[in-house]
Amino acid sequence: MKAVRYIATGRPPEIVDLPIPSPGPGEVLVRIAGAGVCHSDLHVLDHGIGLPGPFTLGHENAGWVAALGAGVEGLKEGDAVAVYGPWGCGRCHSCQRSAENYCDNHASIPSYGGGLGSDGGMAEYMIVPSPRLLVPLGKLDPIEAAPLSDAALTPYHAIKAALPLLTPEASVLVLGIGGLGHMAVQLLQALTPARLIAGDIDAGKLAHAREMGVQHAIDTHDSDAAAERIAAMAGPRGVTVALDFVGAQSTVDLSQRVVGRGSRLTVVGLAGGVVHYAANNPPYGCEVSVPYWGSRTELMEVIALAEAGRIRAEVEVFPLEQAVDVYQRLREGRIRGRAVLTP
Ligand code: NAD
Ligand code: ZN
Ligand code: ZN
Repeated sequence: MKAVRYIATGRPPEIVDLPIPSPGPGEVLVRIAGAGVCHSDLHVLDHGIGLPGPFTLGHENAGWVAALGAGVEGLKEGDAVAVYGPWGCGRCHSCQRSAENYCDNHASIPSYGGGLGSDGGMAEYMIVPSPRLLVPLGKLDPIEAAPLSDAALTPYHAIKAALPLLTPEASVLVLGIGGLGHMAVQLLQALTPARLIAGDIDAGKLAHAREMGVQHAIDTHDSDAAAERIAAMAGPRGVTVALDFVGAQSTVDLSQRVVGRGSRLTVVGLAGGVVHYAANNPPYGCEVSVPYWGSRTELMEVIALAEAGRIRAEVEVFPLEQAVDVYQRLREGRIRGRAVLTP
């Protein structure tokens, strides 16, 4: 089978031929329908994750159960499933409450998950180490559903933690209307009455936000002008929740400038920005959070929202063979919503 492989830091991904793996005891073989192309992969390709290659990329996957390893029960061949991405130890306190994204034993596990140290879903098949990491998709199309497991789950986890602050007179700022950001917009619209302000430096992404019904979509190229406009929109209370899906110094700084007292500043993007604290800056009462991915039960909740038609990943579908070009398009900001590779 063809697979898109991370080889080493600073090298482009390579498409190679691999044998179809067979599931060992307790494992499940999944036939991949779609693998989402996440911006995190660009960080992995450029800077590595401290884990040796090669491994098959793709940490945002959905498909169908193809074969069960010895002892696996409760699934059958052909079941449509999403693959839960952050693989924990499965036994610690965090994993027992389904938050494998915060596994207590992460430091001793030699992989973050499929596509992030272990072989992922940019291939015809992938091995999933346990059936607990698969969530049924019901009637959802597995190609469209693939981004739910990261592009939707990650903002869902961040937004759910902020829900008590997202009251009708509150303002929420979403920076970066790409794969994660376009899902964040829909999740906020589905879950909260707060006033939504979207920021990006790309005119196409701002147009996308407006098409999704965002009234306040602003160009953040000029930080001073953007901060002034956001402050005017948010009013005296300031922005109540800032969700930064870029994580660059400029977006972290902008978020820090516009949040009010008693707010929440959430940095999801991994572009290397630093939050500097000085007295009352971020303002007093502001919580800074750095969420990572989401829990397995939250993935079930995200899938339920999609099944109910409340959220929908906008996907651009490409054949697996075009992976190298698709990564380049993502780097240049030429993907609307999420790119999904299909084998
Ligand atoms: P993407 O490329 O699809 O979208 C990024 C968006 O940010 C684009 O619309 C782009 O125009 C915009 N942007 C870039 N620079 C900007 C700037 N300076 N100001 C405003 N907007 C800017 O990326 P994605 O797949 O949505 O991922 C977003 C970030 O989230 C990445 O850094 C990724 O690594 C990270 N991520 C983190 C987690 C986590 O659990 N913490 C999970 C998944 C992804
Ligand atoms: Zn990702
Ligand atoms: Zn654990």
